[in-house]
Amino acid sequence: MKPKADKDGPPESGDFIRARIRSDLQSDIAKPVTRFPPEPNGYLHIGHAKSICLNFGIAEEFGGTCNLRFDDTNPSKEDVRYEEAIREDVRWLGFDWEDRVYYASDYFEQLYEYALRLISEGKAYVDDLSAEEIRKYRGTLSEPGRESPSRERSVEENLKLFRAMRDGDFDDGQYVLRAKIDMASGNMNMRDPVMYRIMKKSHARTGNSWSIYPMYDWAHGQSDSIEGITHSLCTLEFEDHRPLYDWFIAQLGIYHSRQIEFARLNLSYTILSKRNLMKLVSEGYVSGWDDPRMPTISGLRRRGYTPESIRDFCRKIGITKQDSVIDMQLLEHSVREDLNKRAQRVMAVLDPLKVVIVNYPEGAEEELDAVNNPEDPSMGKRKVPFSKELFIERDDFMENPPKKFYRLSPGSEVRLRYAYIVRCVGFERHPETGEVTEVHCEYDPDTRGGTAPDGRKVRGTIHWVCAKSASTVTVRLYDRLFTVPAPMADKQREFTEFLNPESLRIIEDCAAEPLLGDCSGEINYQFERKGYFILDSADSAPGAPVFNRTVSLRDSWGRRSEGKRA
Ligand code: ATP
Ligand code: MG
Repeated sequence: MKPKADKDGPPESGDFIRARIRSDLQSDIAKPVTRFPPEPNGYLHIGHAKSICLNFGIAEEFGGTCNLRFDDTNPSKEDVRYEEAIREDVRWLGFDWEDRVYYASDYFEQLYEYALRLISEGKAYVDDLSAEEIRKYRGTLSEPGRESPSRERSVEENLKLFRAMRDGDFDDGQYVLRAKIDMASGNMNMRDPVMYRIMKKSHARTGNSWSIYPMYDWAHGQSDSIEGITHSLCTLEFEDHRPLYDWFIAQLGIYHSRQIEFARLNLSYTILSKRNLMKLVSEGYVSGWDDPRMPTISGLRRRGYTPESIRDFCRKIGITKQDSVIDMQLLEHSVREDLNKRAQRVMAVLDPLKVVIVNYPEGAEEELDAVNNPEDPSMGKRKVPFSKELFIERDDFMENPPKKFYRLSPGSEVRLRYAYIVRCVGFERHPETGEVTEVHCEYDPDTRGGTAPDGRKVRGTIHWVCAKSASTVTVRLYDRLFTVPAPMADKQREFTEFLNPESLRIIEDCAAEPLLGDCSGEINYQFERKGYFILDSADSAPGAPVFNRTVSLRDSWGRRSEGKRA
């Protein structure tokens, strides 16, 4: 089978999982069947994206299929709203499970029968030790565990008790069902692991029909088997569970999926664990799962990330067996690269300072041509209004500039992007605070569009907005959510202590090109020299747009690439 090229480039063919699949396709497997198995107990994050791209990507590349399976075995933590969000996020990332959406809860009956089978064969038993006692009996890495007194209970009694557990005859925690394997095993997972616990909890799909729920380790491998998953791809921490999964499958004599482990994604300056992300949400450190600072798929989407940029990131990090921490800058690099190609350029002034063009005719107005995207001529041009009063960034003017300040200062010339070359002829300041309130410039009418016919050199180019027609917008600038690269590393301290108090800066009353005043939808913009922005889908109101900065520009064109771009 020939790998199909991904929409965004050639498939990452070098990783060990794809190599293994290629070899399995040569021998005994007709087509790969993979699955993405989220538990609906929170929103998906960028780590899940790695798994989604891998599982769905392999199915696409090798002509196989990938199932979406909700691993809904713990009703105390799960919720249908998470399920909805998960579906939306997977779809948004660009993947399609078609009609293959499954639920572990669909297999409850089958799993129960499998359990009866193991009990009948003396391979599982009902235990009345408490959770605490079970822990004590388990032993340690250096010491074998002890066998529970219940271990020798008869098959008949086990069957009777297990049925009664299902029927709801007992309270939570009164009994568990355990596999009877080996309390002295060097692998702790093999020391009679719990298969079922009693939980009197209503389930989103099965209602009140169950009083017992299967543990992950009991449900997962059998679910893979039932669905005929050829390659069960999971993260490294499940390597030690594999012998247990193999044991269950062997005892039951059912289809054996091949489990292959890979390193999970860790990303610097953030956390990737639903439980801890949940804490940020429930304790109000962020505005929700989709807060643009969150590493969730929905947060990244609201921040302005594109599905292409996330898929590109996942391709770049690849699949390995070594745990590592990926630099957040790599993710930012992927989104910059993508937005550079697709973002519509506009001008917006975040910290407006008024400029008066003293020799520009009073009441006159004109429209200048601005390029929408220098990387993509097909995006065309737009008209930008110009008149006597403009706004520029406050820090583009300095009264006493240092050397190599190529922007505005008394007597200096600067180019206004797409407009004219202007010279600063004066400024006014506030009588009390001394703050500069207004800058006066003369424009050179022969430089329309920004080039001087006499070829004189003007090094600086700055962005601006026409004051009369400017729209007022709110801008939100984001910084890293945490101040340290590894917020979970310090075991003595709570990770929330490392939250960055400056992760969100809100700037009101920014002056922007008129078109930003009434834009809508998920359009990625580049505010020239300021970064990539997107309209916030939740907090914008008609006439009161709010823009989230996706990421800053690495280089501002203002000074460095002047000659090339302007
Ligand atoms: P978390 O640790 O964030 O709670 P989880 O593993 O409990 O994640 P699941 O819903 O069980 O969340 O995960 C679904 C799938 O996503 C699993 O197959 C899991 O291996 C994978 N996955 C989760 N986190 C990562 C990660 N950081 N990198 C790669 N794959 C991940
Ligand atoms: Mg999990």
